[in-house]
Amino acid sequence: MKLQQCTTCNKQFTWKQILKSLFLGNQPMKCENCGTVYRISNSSKYISVFFILGLAFILLLIELPTNIRFSILLFAYVIFLLIFPFIATYNRQKK
Ligand SMILES: [Zn+2]
Repeated sequence: MKLQQCTTCNKQFTWKQILKSLFLGNQPMKCENCGTVYRISNSSKYISVFFILGLAFILLLIELPTNIRFSILLFAYVIFLLIFPFIATYNRQKK
């Protein structure tokens, strides 16, 4: 797994940078080196929504005590946040 690189200057984005843009509601991400602005791709956006809603839905269907359900959900989201920067793709924003 590899983090995405800037297509202009080939500088690799940091995990923190991608996560930050994700937390700020998929804010555009700017390359620290050359200033090119990137937006998360639609497919990555769908993957994240699908994962979060899908998981919540599955957990609703399974009979589990609420606290265990909540722990699984929390754990899965942490895992998801750890791996998402590696699977997310960003497109260069058109000027
Ligand atoms: Zn760059």
